[in-house]
Amino acid sequence: MSAKLKIAYANGDGIGPEIMEATRLILEKSGASIEWKEVLIGEKVFAKGIKTGIDPSAWEIIFSSDAFLKAPITTPQGGGFKSLNVTFRSRLGLFANIRPCRAFSPFVATKHPKMDLIVIRENEEDLYCGIEYQSHPDVATSLKTITTARSERIIDYAFRYALSHGRKKVSCFTKDNIMKRSDGLFHAVFEKIAANYPQIESEHWIVDIGSAKLADHPENFDVIVLENLYGDILSDVTAQIAGSVGLAGSMNVGGKVSMFEAIHGSAPKRAGQNIANPSALLWAAIYMLDHLGEGAIAETIANAWLYTMEEGVHTYDVFTEGQSKKKVGTLEFAEVISSNLGKIPKFLTKASFGKAHSHKEYEHTQTKSSKTLVGIDLFFIDETASIEKLVDRWKNYSDESFTLKAISNQGSLVYPKETETSVTTPEWRARFLSKKKLSPSDYFAFAKQLSTNEQICALYLLFNHDEKPGFSEI
Ligand code: NAD
Repeated sequence: MSAKLKIAYANGDGIGPEIMEATRLILEKSGASIEWKEVLIGEKVFAKGIKTGIDPSAWEIIFSSDAFLKAPITTPQGGGFKSLNVTFRSRLGLFANIRPCRAFSPFVATKHPKMDLIVIRENEEDLYCGIEYQSHPDVATSLKTITTARSERIIDYAFRYALSHGRKKVSCFTKDNIMKRSDGLFHAVFEKIAANYPQIESEHWIVDIGSAKLADHPENFDVIVLENLYGDILSDVTAQIAGSVGLAGSMNVGGKVSMFEAIHGSAPKRAGQNIANPSALLWAAIYMLDHLGEGAIAETIANAWLYTMEEGVHTYDVFTEGQSKKKVGTLEFAEVISSNLGKIPKFLTKASFGKAHSHKEYEHTQTKSSKTLVGIDLFFIDETASIEKLVDRWKNYSDESFTLKAISNQGSLVYPKETETSVTTPEWRARFLSKKKLSPSDYFAFAKQLSTNEQICALYLLFNHDEKPGFSEI
């Protein structure tokens, strides 16, 4: 190992300080050359009235470090507090969340002894931008935005990760049979990037059946790349079916400084008793060393952990009568792992992190297209009128420039089909198209001259890109 790694670390709350102490002890004993700097986050900071839960002094330390190792924190009760992880992700530009999920059977019970996969989740966009509207007390809308640049970045990262870690296949799950544009964009980018990596197999699944296959036969998957929401859900599912969420570490990578943490919480009931399992945070630290190009030390620690599990030296949470040999506390577990450094597991596949992978980001080139404004969708609230009356009224707004093409309610067409729908919601959408070359202000002027009785709550301009509609059909 060459220059000292500068690692910012946060002890967190609950069992956090204990599992951090154990993890740091093993890293020190492994010969990893680390300069540790503590940052303050969590309960003590919230108690000072700092809504983010991050002490302001933390940023300078984190930004001048090579990586950030974070123990779990206790989320404060009640509203008004910001999600600490969301703050870290956006401030540090952590676009990828990576969760390796491997079974350690028979040493940790699981129904899927052969599973060994990596979930790579996009971290910054999708529904997690939290852009929501309520046009009516009974109607709530969340905007899901997927962009080419961010999709390229995460998907390319997944293929590069697969390549540098000896993985054979990358799978992508989307729901592009329904969300043809947003998920369709992610899927199209996946196909485009996959073509750059002919040595890696690639496949796409519709997320529902893909998830069912994953839960049933996780051993058939290798690397899975997902948008934010699907990734959030499926990374917990895979960690759980691997045997225990208590053993899973994760990494958030992106900008200059990446963040590594256990996926479990602060387990307050277990705090202060020296019984918590430090494994998940230790695995996070192992991934951190691998990420920083110290794959050899990462492998040594991982193999010592695997060896210790095989020896049957277990903390209470994975201790199984008959299978386990000795129940140990947090620090004792760390000491046993430290004494096993250099040993190789006999039954479990030994850890192998391959060569350091490049952090070169995919170079996005903006898609060029000819963009034409062709129409407007007007969302409005109408709780009283019959569909017939409503349609008649809106038909009247057509003129020589704007033609009413459709009226729908939550995607169900009521005009021109005009079928009776028994279930309607208060929010409607009228679509006007124009054959004339008009500017956005012409469309806004059109919307403005509608009867003041119309309760317009949102409008969208409709564009064609290279003469293809850039909007859903209904
Ligand atoms: P938790 O993950 O803390 O605990 C769930 C269960 O797993 C408990 O029974 C606990 O005793 C056990 N457990 C968890 N980690 C363990 C370990 N290392 N060793 C042994 N047993 C372990 O989930 P929770 O109880 O829902 O949450 C507790 C607090 O943690 C909450 O305030 C929650 O918001 C917070 N949390 C923080 C993070 C984070 O900081 N990244 C993540 C999840 C939850």
